[in-house]
Amino acid sequence: MKFHDLHIHTHLSLCSEDPGATVANYLCRARELGLEVLGFTDHMWDVANVPLPSPNPWYRQQDFARAMSIRREIPRDSGIKVLVGVETEFAQGVVGISPQAASELDFVLVPHSHIHMLDFVRERSVVSPRDVAAHMLKTFEDLVSRDIATIVAHPFFPLSMHTGENLVQIYRYLPDGALEHAFGLAQEHRAAVEVNLSIFEGNIQAPLYQDTYLRMLSIAKRMGCKFSIGSDSHSIQAFDETYRAGMFEDAVAILGLTDDNMVQLAL
Ligand SMILES: [Zn+2]
Ligand SMILES: [Zn+2]
Repeated sequence: MKFHDLHIHTHLSLCSEDPGATVANYLCRARELGLEVLGFTDHMWDVANVPLPSPNPWYRQQDFARAMSIRREIPRDSGIKVLVGVETEFAQGVVGISPQAASELDFVLVPHSHIHMLDFVRERSVVSPRDVAAHMLKTFEDLVSRDIATIVAHPFFPLSMHTGENLVQIYRYLPDGALEHAFGLAQEHRAAVEVNLSIFEGNIQAPLYQDTYLRMLSIAKRMGCKFSIGSDSHSIQAFDETYRAGMFEDAVAILGLTDDNMVQLAL
């Protein structure tokens, strides 16, 4: 497979605190690191065409036109394949991109697990590990059934509840059978599954991930889902550290991924 990264944020994402996170700087560093394919995916809600289900000032500022302004930064020939996508959102049953906007992109990344966004992605009453697990299962299945996500970003990553004992408790309520059902649906609907390198916090071998993320991703593989790999970098430094630490190679080896497992964009 190509040495690829299909989840990169630039300075256009409001949560990037690196003004140097430009396409030119990513391409320069990617060349040094040996990457072959970069996919840019800034946060985006297509507010002009898809009404926000509840007020969200953060997304209101990150509309499709802003995300697409990245095209002005892409050089004609950099020696690296550059894909343009977005990371949109799935909140209250609404995916934040219109089919028309999606058709203008190389791919659409949609997360279902930004559960730190209270009263938007997650209702306040969803707190217990059991309820959070049920929420993620329901939103994952609902999302993949809509045939709009090319790739589900960081599946089953309970953002804000993703560390230590919280993670273990939540995954107790994500048994193999339930995950098999969810990934079976993803496979049927051809929604690829992301191996998000940032969720492992620099150590994919940590025992914590054995029965959580690695079990979950292995089930996706067994169910025949296609994969992409992404660093979810929000800065040049994070991008650099991810690849210098060998996270891409480790993920491929540990999950036993081959060309057959990868989404077409990564080949
Ligand atoms: Zn995300
Ligand atoms: Zn992201």
